[in-house]
Amino acid sequence: LDDIKKVDTEVADTIKAEFERQNSHIELIASENWVSPAVMSAMGSILTNKYAEGYPNRRYYGGCEKVDIIEELARERAKELFGCEYVNVQPHSGAQANMAVQFAVLNLNDTIMGMNLDHGGHLTHGSPVNFSGKYFNVVPYGVNSEGFIDYDEVEKIALECKPKMIIAGASAYARTIDFKRFREIADKVGAVLFVDMAHIAGLVAAGLHPSPIPYADIVTTTTHKTLRGPRGGMIMAKKEVADKYNFNKAVFPGVQGGPLMHVIAAKAVCFKEALQPEFKEYQQQVIKNAQSLCKGLQKRGIDIVSGGTDNHLMLIDLTKKGLTGKEIEKLLDSANITANKNTIPNDPQSPFVTSGVRLGTPAATSRGLKEDDFDQVAEAIALLINNGEEAVTKVKEIVKKLTDKYPLQF
Ligand code: PLP
Repeated sequence: LDDIKKVDTEVADTIKAEFERQNSHIELIASENWVSPAVMSAMGSILTNKYAEGYPNRRYYGGCEKVDIIEELARERAKELFGCEYVNVQPHSGAQANMAVQFAVLNLNDTIMGMNLDHGGHLTHGSPVNFSGKYFNVVPYGVNSEGFIDYDEVEKIALECKPKMIIAGASAYARTIDFKRFREIADKVGAVLFVDMAHIAGLVAAGLHPSPIPYADIVTTTTHKTLRGPRGGMIMAKKEVADKYNFNKAVFPGVQGGPLMHVIAAKAVCFKEALQPEFKEYQQQVIKNAQSLCKGLQKRGIDIVSGGTDNHLMLIDLTKKGLTGKEIEKLLDSANITANKNTIPNDPQSPFVTSGVRLGTPAATSRGLKEDDFDQVAEAIALLINNGEEAVTKVKEIVKKLTDKYPLQF
């Protein structure tokens, strides 16, 4: 921070304060992670100085020989990691990747199916407040009363509305997604199958969640969630699909200008890390920790949507406790646990209040926590839910023990 301090103490001090917040809190936001020093250094490198509109060997600027190497490294590693034929590593974010895909494949007012936001889908899968819901005719699908995707229902809706595109993937779905079944449904109605695997990409890379690559026409992901890379997005596809829809053109100049070469370098580093055996061990620990947290909560009387989890996240259902996600998010925060309120299927509360809390294990697993530690996290959360503010002091002690045991390096 010394360089920043010399010119801007306000920003330097606030970064330091944010580090202290991260270090003293247990991070359970399912979409966050703690990147390696190598990923961090690539992001903060001199590559941020370079303009490189276009693609390797076809740029609109001079001096791109070195950044061409970087972008090719990122692309080749992504292909190796996920076994895909085409990849574009330029999307600045998951939302931008999804926008490029939808603008490339669809025309205004085409019908698409995506998972309802309230049931765990993402804004870009057809929410009325997002471009996807404004430009396209959205027929949402959801989960059944047990919290599982009902594939027969998805098929029924698809047969009725004949969508041009079916989007599979979610932001708050704790169960394995059956991509093969989605493929069969898409084939029945002649739809393009687009999978957004942002949340589970790290698990897929490690072979711990079935890959959508063999089944989907197009796959997008973010690189910063379970994959543990820099904030960013990526598009993958079969070669013939990429040629047909020209995703390169859809990204640039379609929805973006110059690529963020420092972020693309960090993506390359992240993919190299993800190709190492330790990455699989990390992802296995993410799942073991999620199992421990989930079981620890359930044995202390906390309901979990769908009764469990197959991946890195879970949703607490607060309805029987008569509590809201909003108040529990605040209570957790006051005891140094960071999580987010989340709607649950058929939530009686508004999206600003909600009856659920989403919990994920990727960030705290990167920090070093193991199953026993996550049982302590479950104890802390259950104490707060069952006893309210009077448990805050005790919970802060539990959190402090864990954060002291696994200090973050800065
Ligand atoms: N897709 C899914 C499934 C997500 O959960 C998210 C983010 O939470 C996104 C896309 C969007 O990613 P970004 O925030 O990078 O735009």
